[in-house]
Amino acid sequence: MEFHKSEAHLDGPLFKNALQTVEEAAKLINCDPNVLERLKKPRRCVTVSIPVRMDDYSVKVFTGYRVQYNATLGPYKGGIRYHQNVDLPEVVGLAALMTFKNSVLGLPLGGAKGGVCVDPNTISRTEKQNLTRRYASEISAFVGPTKDIPAPDVGTDPQTMAWFMDTYSQEQGGYAQPGVVTGKPVEIGGSLGRNHATGLGVVYTAEKSFEKMGMKMAGSTIAIQGFGNVGSFAALFAHQRGAKIIAISDVSGAIFNGDGLNIPEIIEFIKTNKVLKGYTKAQPLTNEELLTLKCDALFPCALEGQIDVHNAENVKAKIIVEGANGPVSVNATKILHKRGVFIAPDVIANGGGVIVSYFEWVQDIMSLFWDEEEVNNRLKTIIHRAFDVGFKFHQEKNVDMRSAAMAVSVQRLEKAMLLRGLYPR
Ligand code: GLU
Repeated sequence: MEFHKSEAHLDGPLFKNALQTVEEAAKLINCDPNVLERLKKPRRCVTVSIPVRMDDYSVKVFTGYRVQYNATLGPYKGGIRYHQNVDLPEVVGLAALMTFKNSVLGLPLGGAKGGVCVDPNTISRTEKQNLTRRYASEISAFVGPTKDIPAPDVGTDPQTMAWFMDTYSQEQGGYAQPGVVTGKPVEIGGSLGRNHATGLGVVYTAEKSFEKMGMKMAGSTIAIQGFGNVGSFAALFAHQRGAKIIAISDVSGAIFNGDGLNIPEIIEFIKTNKVLKGYTKAQPLTNEELLTLKCDALFPCALEGQIDVHNAENVKAKIIVEGANGPVSVNATKILHKRGVFIAPDVIANGGGVIVSYFEWVQDIMSLFWDEEEVNNRLKTIIHRAFDVGFKFHQEKNVDMRSAAMAVSVQRLEKAMLLRGLYPR
């Protein structure tokens, strides 16, 4: 798809990649062309300037975004990313992915994403709070418990959500509005099990993938890219299930141990050291080496665009479980699929986060909270159901799992859009 100059925000690699899968999925289900036309563009893109008082008393102006992609199935939902590479084209791509993720998971939610172009590691806690509060204020007209519900993503965490929730609540007359964001600390309306939900969902999806490939997770070898909220919990849960995590990585580099890394020890190490660099009971590895390591499964749990046509041929894992959003390109998916590599796509594999966000939002509305076991069990039911529906399509139509998941997703959106019709008409 070609875009003209004023549509540069639709020209990012992540979004174009998402559109390619949507168009291919639309063909598979013979999608209504009018529905497809609408699905290819975001509904609303908000760009804001965020003036922030820095610790030295100067004012720095950051740029933030909130993209509301589609609200057919329910209120907009999606995380907020703080990263130095955030720009509008990336947020559009991530918002589109949230739309298709929420649909394939069967959640009554639309898709959105937000972000601020900032390296969160270079600002102080006070500066991060100031930034979050002003960003929340700048987009407050567009969010709310029935409108658009943000959540954490790369570079944001429960504390960030607490500041967001407080700012929004203060601006609503001071009345607590826990339902405006999810991923909050449990003390202010967060859900038990939300913090580890994405990592747990990755492992629930991996278990299914192993089973379908006639393999077992216990005793398998796994390489994990990224050791943030997603990668570290995925590593821990896989380790607890008897898998050997032979390599992990973060911004400081990758580490390898063929006998399996001691994940609980590394999680403790990170608490004081912040990064993996300096951990001695392993050999150093490059990021590229990690991605192409000989192992049973690879979990890319960092950022988008990690495996493309340039390195897809070199990947040796038999299973890829996408903990990140968009880590494997569509064309790389085709190469890997041909080679018999099973890819559990992002829209299902990393859906644990938004699934438990949905539970948190429901619990906030009811003011009635579930225990952790209930949250984990309900998460498992939803993610396994989405996997099974996708897997059935994958087998029946003989297409890769990403195409299958997207086809199921587009079909649900198509039905809902046709039922609602066009306004005014
Ligand atoms: N940021 C997460 C994602 O990409 C979670 C979104 C949410 O909980 O709303 O799915």
